[in-house]
Amino acid sequence: MPQHVLDLLTVDALLTEEERAIRDTVRAFVDKRVRPEIGQWFEDGTSPKELAGELGELGVFGMHLEGYGCAGTNAVSYGLACMELEAGDSGLRSMVSVQGSLSMYSIWKYGSEEQKQEWLPQLAAGLAIGCFGLTEPDFGSNPSGLRTTAVRRGGDWVLNGSKMWITNGSAAAVATIWARTDEGIRGFVVPTATPGFTATDVHHKLSLRASITSAIYLDDVLLPADAMLPRAQGLSGPLGCLSEARFGIIFGAMGAARDCLDSALGYATSRVQFDKPIAAFQLTQAKLADMSVELYKGVLLALHLGRLKDNGGVRPEQISIGKLNNVREAIEIARTCRTILGGSGITTEYSPLRHASNLESVLTYEGTSEVHQLALGQALTGISAYR
Ligand SMILES: Cc1cc2nc3c(=O)[nH]c(=O)nc-3n(C[C@H](O)[C@H](O)[C@H](O)COP(=O)(O)OP(=O)(O)OC[C@H]3O[C@@H](n4cnc5c(N)ncnc54)[C@H](O)[C@@H]3O)c2cc1C
Repeated sequence: MPQHVLDLLTVDALLTEEERAIRDTVRAFVDKRVRPEIGQWFEDGTSPKELAGELGELGVFGMHLEGYGCAGTNAVSYGLACMELEAGDSGLRSMVSVQGSLSMYSIWKYGSEEQKQEWLPQLAAGLAIGCFGLTEPDFGSNPSGLRTTAVRRGGDWVLNGSKMWITNGSAAAVATIWARTDEGIRGFVVPTATPGFTATDVHHKLSLRASITSAIYLDDVLLPADAMLPRAQGLSGPLGCLSEARFGIIFGAMGAARDCLDSALGYATSRVQFDKPIAAFQLTQAKLADMSVELYKGVLLALHLGRLKDNGGVRPEQISIGKLNNVREAIEIARTCRTILGGSGITTEYSPLRHASNLESVLTYEGTSEVHQLALGQALTGISAYR
């Protein structure tokens, strides 16, 4: 489809030249490197190992962070990159989100100078992969109950416990692990080669298949005293990282939705039934029109939150509005686009069902829709309804 068809509102005019250039560079990478192969990666439940190095060269890992080999772009540019990556596949965007906004951000924001020097440059370059272990088998939406422990032994720390659903887990060289200590929840920078650290992949996934999802086991993992992130105390540490990653999702989900609409539009104009292209039927046009309205609204919402972030900050409940709306609408768009594709829509040849199934994970991670509704309910009423 010509690009202007997918930008009827001329949102492009709201972007700077630099933002458009970054967006176009990531789009070109996705078109060349990801689009031709993603159907197969999804089917095989894999993605090529060398992709991390290529994404590092592209400069998208931790691109909104300053220093240590990071690109230091504004938040909108980072969001636009997420949009293009997720137009390729949510698994690709997840890898970049976890690396940049969870693993790198946790070290960048809460780490010591030594931790930053050691890990950030190699993570930015894609020479090392990072992961972020907060969720546990019994504590997902309620991470405050986490049971992984970090106990002092002399000057060292000993970690025990398990983490579940960890993106990049088995591929990671370093893990940020959140654990309970006698002074509350603290974060630890854990080289995954440390004895007692193991990661096993979750198989049989029906969603986010081109992304690694792992369980992590920590069995007497011995770490030096300086493995703790000095500037994160309590749950606000991991929640601060999650806000960063959720921001990328707000843009990313609209990338997936745009790709679905693009695919459905192309199909609708060429598929003939009852002697006409199906695009000529009013019922099809109503679907396309409604989807485009939700897409443009979602893109504008993302851009608004991006400008807020660049101009002093965005509050967690504002992020909740974006994550709740944009993922919910993206999944609706993906499912509706699949209906336009008819039977052809059920194979990997077309993207909408792959996006829809990926977005099931995106709906759940980084705070489920219900958790974001509760966050907004609390912001509106002043009453917490979590318990
Ligand atoms: C593909 C994938 C990748 C992930 N990557 C990571 C990662 O890299 N690092 C990491 O730490 N975690 C990761 N996660 C974990 C993710 O954040 C959790 O799955 C999520 O927080 C939900 O937790 P849960 O799956 O245990 O569901 P639960 O918390 O058990 O929730 C189940 C259902 O109950 C609802 N519910 C729970 N509490 C309430 C309530 N108070 N009121 C109303 N409804 C409620 C939820 O909304 C949901 O619908 C990933 C998950 C997936 C699927």
